[in-house]
Amino acid sequence: MDQRLGQNGTYAADTGLRARVQMLLRSVLQVVYPPRCIGCGAQVESDFGLCSACWRDTPFIAGTVCECCGVPLPGDADGYRIECDDCMATPRPWVDGRSVMLYAGQARSLVLALKHGDRPEIAHAVAPWMARVAAPLLREDMVVIPVPLHWSRLWQRRYNQAALLGQALANQAGLQHCPDALIRPRRTTPQDGKSPQARFESISGAIRFNPKQTGTFKDRPVLLVDDVMTSGATFAECAQVCRDGGSGDVFVLALARAVRED
Ligand SMILES: [Zn+2]
Ligand SMILES: [Zn+2]
Repeated sequence: MDQRLGQNGTYAADTGLRARVQMLLRSVLQVVYPPRCIGCGAQVESDFGLCSACWRDTPFIAGTVCECCGVPLPGDADGYRIECDDCMATPRPWVDGRSVMLYAGQARSLVLALKHGDRPEIAHAVAPWMARVAAPLLREDMVVIPVPLHWSRLWQRRYNQAALLGQALANQAGLQHCPDALIRPRRTTPQDGKSPQARFESISGAIRFNPKQTGTFKDRPVLLVDDVMTSGATFAECAQVCRDGGSGDVFVLALARAVRED
């Protein structure tokens, strides 16, 4: 028999066997570790999903949205660009933005579990939702850049949740991810509970571009990714720093949009 044919035959048999072993392993794993809801841990049909109760309690954003931040707005889109009151009152240094869900109910629990609960797999689970919502923002040759963490927080949490989301989205959408394009040399106090003005003041000057990575994002459209957008101060600072570093247009994507309840 031709030597190569023999090798090919062996290879084909190998891959067939490997696929069968993988299938068997998967079904064994499903018995030992059945797929769980990423919200409450109840058994579900497929990996990385939500059970129907958690799905109902997750305020996914749909319909008419603010082009700048993705917050839901009443009424139907009439073909003209619409922005929410926040974005009109605080002009944004980015082009367009979207958010996957409102920061409430199960969405809030998921974000907190990803951020503080050592549940990095949540980023993988939400990637298809992020890719769907981000579709109108995606541009050719776009680079995904996560909002950076100060090293001391990175050390505490072991990972940057925004970078996990950025990586998962980049994989899903087939984009390049540049996790160290931005750095945060100055530690800021937590933004929770601060007024929008205090948030803008505290973040000002806290973020820099990484001179080693300017070649990566120069003249390219950028998609900034973070877990939560509240006042937009952090996104604004990052967007400005990207532009100062020579990037093209900047777009933003938040997993959750926190809105003031008033
Ligand atoms: Zn559940
Ligand atoms: Zn808005």
